[in-house]
Amino acid sequence: MNESNLNKLKKLYKSLRKLENIYCGDGWYNVVSELCEAAEEVAPRIEFVEVKEKFGHLVAVPKEGSYPPVLKQVIYDLLKSFAKLSTTVCEETGGMGKLRINDKKCLKTLCDSSAILLGYEKLH
Ligand SMILES: [Zn+2]
Repeated sequence: MNESNLNKLKKLYKSLRKLENIYCGDGWYNVVSELCEAAEEVAPRIEFVEVKEKFGHLVAVPKEGSYPPVLKQVIYDLLKSFAKLSTTVCEETGGMGKLRINDKKCLKTLCDSSAILLGYEKLH
């Protein structure tokens, strides 16, 4: 994510303050923002140690002990639902995305035009 978006998000969300970077495209700015909004509402002291793209999904790893153990399942479900949501949003442009694959078998969630630009095809 570019520095200006990263800094904006870190200013908005305490849960991201310790991160050096968010390893995903800027198209997911809103997805990351909504995830933090929801997570901090449920668990105000939650802290993420890693936020990144993996296999076309948004993966956010909360610091152990930064939320009450009783919330473990709720947080898990929340993170899972945002991982799923991220596969509908283009990681590059924020447009309507789908999971795609390239000739190196890398997965990425992209809109039609970003997919053409980056050489990704529809996943069958
Ligand atoms: Zn796109």
